[in-house]
Amino acid sequence: MEEKIWLSSPHMGGGEMKYIQHAFDENWIAPLGPNVNGLEKDLEKYLGQHSHVAALSSGSAAIHLSLILLGVERGDFVICQSLTFSATANPIIYLGAQPLFVDSEKDTWNLCPNAVEEAIKFGISKGKKPKAIVTVSLYGLPYQVDEIKSLSEKYDIPVIEDSAEALGSTYKGQKCGTFGDISVISFNGNKIITTSGGGALIVKDESLKKRAVFLATQAKDDALHYEHSSIGYNYRMSNISAGIGRGQMEVLEERIAQRRANHLFYQDIFKDHPYCSLHTEPSDDFYSNHWLNIITIDPDSKIEIKEVINGFSAANIEIRPIWKPMHLQPVFMKCHYFGKSIAEDLFNRGLCLPSGSNLTQGDKQRITEIIKKTLL
Ligand SMILES: *Cc1c(COP(=O)(O)O)cnc(C)c1O
Repeated sequence: MEEKIWLSSPHMGGGEMKYIQHAFDENWIAPLGPNVNGLEKDLEKYLGQHSHVAALSSGSAAIHLSLILLGVERGDFVICQSLTFSATANPIIYLGAQPLFVDSEKDTWNLCPNAVEEAIKFGISKGKKPKAIVTVSLYGLPYQVDEIKSLSEKYDIPVIEDSAEALGSTYKGQKCGTFGDISVISFNGNKIITTSGGGALIVKDESLKKRAVFLATQAKDDALHYEHSSIGYNYRMSNISAGIGRGQMEVLEERIAQRRANHLFYQDIFKDHPYCSLHTEPSDDFYSNHWLNIITIDPDSKIEIKEVINGFSAANIEIRPIWKPMHLQPVFMKCHYFGKSIAEDLFNRGLCLPSGSNLTQGDKQRITEIIKKTLL
């Protein structure tokens, strides 16, 4: 069997070991230390826009803390994109709040502004204006930032920007990770750069960052003994993981360029395809890191998604359906949903293709062949 080609696998190559060695040399084997501070500084410099960054144990932890920082409590409504990975929505449930799931719009596959407004009005009609709008930039493509921002301003509801998949993407030239009242990125093993597991929370002022770090380190009050006036979490990033992150930051631009080159590779394959279309930026306002490449298959074609997946697995190449919308998940069945069936339709027709920055020419050759075999 030929070697497996993954959807998106870790791609080391910068100075990761140098930072890890430093942590060993100095015995900073803990969820704090110079690499943690260094990674935060690197990210602040990269993102600009007066960002203050807290490095955390995961993107999920960052979403959880964001909701806490915005005062989300039991029974509150929180608006959330339905077409996403479950980690976007789970922390809403941790807090006993209720997600109002919202459909996608066709261009970006992210939050449909009309459906968001419908969800806001629903909340208000129940006497509970939603506490936050959780946006996603799916597969690296930014959401309709201006439209969502104007709704956020009109109704005075803060935005939590889940840019777990979108580090390096921009909207109208501004970087993802800087649009939310609180923004989140992930460094999980499959993301554009990784710390093996990890994430970051991004805010606009230092005092909010301090509060996030306080909650992420067990909420220890300023006292000689252990004193607690809030519930804390163990959510800080380890100094070892942060060392990997610092090395990865050195090659971030290169990784974005490689992923975008993959996108051109697929564009070439699918440009005149009778049944498949490649998901791409709808206009020059959007610049995607192309974390993953996705095709949708025309329902009128005779192509069976199952057979395509089987064909790829036989060739030892990973391929997957797109995220299953949250409002269709058994665990979220009882939650409210606003919009039409765009997310559901995309789920039925969409496939994620191998998109790692470490794909070789040989890998691309094998991918081209299997596409010809299963999709033409
Ligand atoms: C990966 C991901 C997360 C979660 O990040 P972790 O670091 O894995 O906890 C959240 N939202 C989206 C959209 C993701 O893709």
